[in-house]
Amino acid sequence: MAGTECLFCRIARREVKAEIVGETDGLVAFKDINPQAPTHVLLIPTEHLPRLADATEAHTPVLGRLLQFANRLARQYGLEAGYRVVLNNGAQAGQTVFHLHLHLLGGRPMTWPPG
Ligand code: 5GP
Ligand code: ZN
Repeated sequence: MAGTECLFCRIARREVKAEIVGETDGLVAFKDINPQAPTHVLLIPTEHLPRLADATEAHTPVLGRLLQFANRLARQYGLEAGYRVVLNNGAQAGQTVFHLHLHLLGGRPMTWPPG
């Protein structure tokens, strides 16, 4: 799917409404519409990249910055007790929106392994 049609590209462009909670150079964070924890934020690069598996060496800086962005948001949400960062890659892993995103989850105890 091209970036013009992609839901998360459209959220980044403010064409689709979402509760945006953070933004930094080339990255946007917004609340998940169907939260699985008291804090459930999605972090995306504004560049359309369908899956982690599609990333090249050129994406290394943006991938690193996404993790640091998760760190910053976790501090913003007071998740000192712990938080989980999830990246679903591909349909079998549960990916439903094909624009790379991190889930930042926190605010409740979590179990392992995930389902
Ligand atoms: P995935 O399963 O692809 O890793 O995660 C996609 C996430 O996007 C899901 O947790 C889902 O609840 C969320 N989501 C789907 N559509 C929308 C939407 O229109 N707005 C927001 N804020 N989140 C969405
Ligand atoms: Zn996209």
